[in-house]
Amino acid sequence: MEGASKPRTTASRRRKVTPALRGGIDLGGTKIEAIVVDDTNTILASSRHPTPSSGGPADVAGEMVEAVKGACQAAGVEPATLVGSGVGSPGVIDEAVGTVSTARNLPGWEGSYALGPELQMNLGTHVVIGNDVQVATDAEFALGAGRPYRSLLGVMWGTGVGGGLILDGKPWVGRGGAGEIGHMVVEMGGARCPCGRRGCMEAYAGRAAMEARARKRQKEQRTDLFKIMKERGRTKLTSSVWARALERKDKLTVELIDEAVGALGAGIASAINLLDVPAVIIGGGLGVRLGEPYVKRIRKAMQPHLFNDTDPPDVLLAGLGDLGGAIGAALLVMPARRPAARRSRAAAGA
Ligand SMILES: [Zn+2]
Repeated sequence: MEGASKPRTTASRRRKVTPALRGGIDLGGTKIEAIVVDDTNTILASSRHPTPSSGGPADVAGEMVEAVKGACQAAGVEPATLVGSGVGSPGVIDEAVGTVSTARNLPGWEGSYALGPELQMNLGTHVVIGNDVQVATDAEFALGAGRPYRSLLGVMWGTGVGGGLILDGKPWVGRGGAGEIGHMVVEMGGARCPCGRRGCMEAYAGRAAMEARARKRQKEQRTDLFKIMKERGRTKLTSSVWARALERKDKLTVELIDEAVGALGAGIASAINLLDVPAVIIGGGLGVRLGEPYVKRIRKAMQPHLFNDTDPPDVLLAGLGDLGGAIGAALLVMPARRPAARRSRAAAGA
């Protein structure tokens, strides 16, 4: 569902008037998804805008403001009346001051930018920024496929491969840099990763790295990948392009996806050997697009690498789909609700 080429705004027909509305913004390398939710986390309206591919942080912030305005308009409210708005952002986040640094998938974002204050000024509402992968994992834990568990690992398989951790009911962020599962080494001295190192899982499974591999190999091997990209009016190999090429059984695509699945199996199993959490949730643009059959394949690819191979963890597809990131962002503005929501579900067991 990523890669919208023009803004698209939708409103739920079962809209009900409630005073405690919040905004959630999922800031991705391809699209900005803004939603408005009520106090039960039901989505009242959403608006999807393409992420600017040139310019800088100010242009991205401007498009984010437009996306929130679009969602608010569809929900029949003014942005300033929202209790607040959360943002799930890539890059290095300083939640206290609302800055985002080195968001390399976004245009001209090598330095630090005060995204929170900028949005707050233009929307007239409180803005909280969190890490995109961690908020998507939090959303799956609170409301999605992770609900039955106290601990889990979220793996967001998209442009990169991000990881989010919940340990014993609480997000584990380490010193701020935890969850970088994409940079687990699956092959010593292996392929070059977008991070500059070698042999990382993301070097084989991240969509950006897979595209770089495809561009290199197309010189020796015929492929329809780039033809499909052009047919669909895209400038990069989006998840829908990969999915379409798989449907056509494009040989290079099948090879690259096989390598990606193998790398995910080794990397996730290694993380499980260390943490022994009971569940792995597979999300992200590519994960959600390829869906259950590929979750099954990842589960199978993990098996030979699991030390405790008689008792593998549950490996599940993200339950909130494409909107999990935006829902998780909206959860940032009312942290007080999360433990309560959690307790009521703990009674359901596991
Ligand atoms: Zn890396």
